Amino acid sequence: MLVAYHPAGIHLPELDLWLDPKEPVERAWISHAHSDHARGLHRNVLATPETLRLYRLRWPENEEIAQSLQPLRHGESLHLGPAKLTAIPAGHIVGAAQLLVEQAGERLVYTGDLKLMPPLCGTATEVARCDRLIIESTFGLPIFHFLTREEARARIAAFATATLEDGGVPVFLGYPLGRGQEIVEVLANAGIPCAVHGSIARFLPVYEAAGCRFPGWSPYEARNTRGKALVLTPSMRRGLEASGKDFRIAYVSGWAALDNARTRAGAEELIPYSDHAGFAELLTMARESGASRIDLVHGYTEPLARILRQQGFDACAPAAQVSRATDEEGE
Ligand SMILES: [Zn+2]
Repeated sequence: MLVAYHPAGIHLPELDLWLDPKEPVERAWISHAHSDHARGLHRNVLATPETLRLYRLRWPENEEIAQSLQPLRHGESLHLGPAKLTAIPAGHIVGAAQLLVEQAGERLVYTGDLKLMPPLCGTATEVARCDRLIIESTFGLPIFHFLTREEARARIAAFATATLEDGGVPVFLGYPLGRGQEIVEVLANAGIPCAVHGSIARFLPVYEAAGCRFPGWSPYEARNTRGKALVLTPSMRRGLEASGKDFRIAYVSGWAALDNARTRAGAEELIPYSDHAGFAELLTMARESGASRIDLVHGYTEPLARILRQQGFDACAPAAQVSRATDEEGE
């Protein structure tokens, strides 16, 4: 199966299918709805129903887009030319999926952004056996080891409860799509009053449709923060510092695993939980996939390729794939 790496994205030329292209194309697979993956107004879009719903929210006025969307549910397959395509849960954010491409006896898996440990919200990943694995490596260094969802749940609830009992206002900074909803889910189901910024709250219905529950949350109002945990976006941190109130910030992120995270995030509580796979999870994924060839995209591609090669894998970081740091929505 031919795979071509371009600055605009990954292309399967025999199917004329692009994987998370960065520019408008004829036919695109969109792995999930973070803006660095779901970008471009493509002629044909294939994605899970949840991802398509979020993708549509980007172009609410555009009627043309509705005719171009083809849903593929987790576990479902469809045929495209000589290939069979199957969506597999990726555990990253609501609707996130890996794509299994089967063609002429060969199996290729493109993970998109992936989390192997069960997430706080949504469906856990499955590892599909394949010959070639194209996997993200956002956190592909041994220092990135993350909490389980049970540990993260306990840490988030404990920080909120202790801060409220102390008379302070606990603040959780979360990206608008993914982390924000997960934090609201933890607080709401622990019975902790929480106020949620509109840019996070707007996506709660998509998570509710996928089976998550958020009992009792309220919209964030800057004048009414007493006795509540706040779930806000990272860009709001500076405004909080300037207010002079007793806000205490928790940073829930994969980057909280770094030594300098407290200073970088301006947070007093670091909770290293991510919607991406940590280093050990990436190694497990590589091993359990059975892949004879592994391509690393995004993040620490070169270091992880080197480590995998030392362990006997045929791994590489395709040169044309531009590495990605954080964006405004995801890690
Ligand atoms: Zn993402």
